[in-house]
Amino acid sequence: MKRFIATLLRFAGLLKYDLLIRYVPTIPDRNSLPAGYLVVVQDGDILKWACISCPGGCGETISLSLNPNRRPRWSIVSDWWCRPSVSPSVHQKNSCGCHFWIRNGEIHWCAGGRPRSD
Ligand SMILES: [Zn+2]
Repeated sequence: MKRFIATLLRFAGLLKYDLLIRYVPTIPDRNSLPAGYLVVVQDGDILKWACISCPGGCGETISLSLNPNRRPRWSIVSDWWCRPSVSPSVHQKNSCGCHFWIRNGEIHWCAGGRPRSD
């Protein structure tokens, strides 16, 4: 219901986001990653991975480890609207070279972090 309202508010221009958070029990197949979602793999109380499809357009699935015992790792919070904030920033080391922050569900590109084709 909340997502439905969020979708309406976004449509009306009252709420801004690129991504909403969604929790799943197993890591999604790269072809089944839903567009517009940051998918968090949760096993019981343990958050394992955050997966998004690269917003730079290369189509790559980005998997961020949420395991506190591993490096690098990321932390995620979401607001009342299920809009995720991720820290630190996400930097793709492939040819796409995307570098961005996710704050309150919005992609914020770092300087020089956009794909060259833009
Ligand atoms: Zn990319």
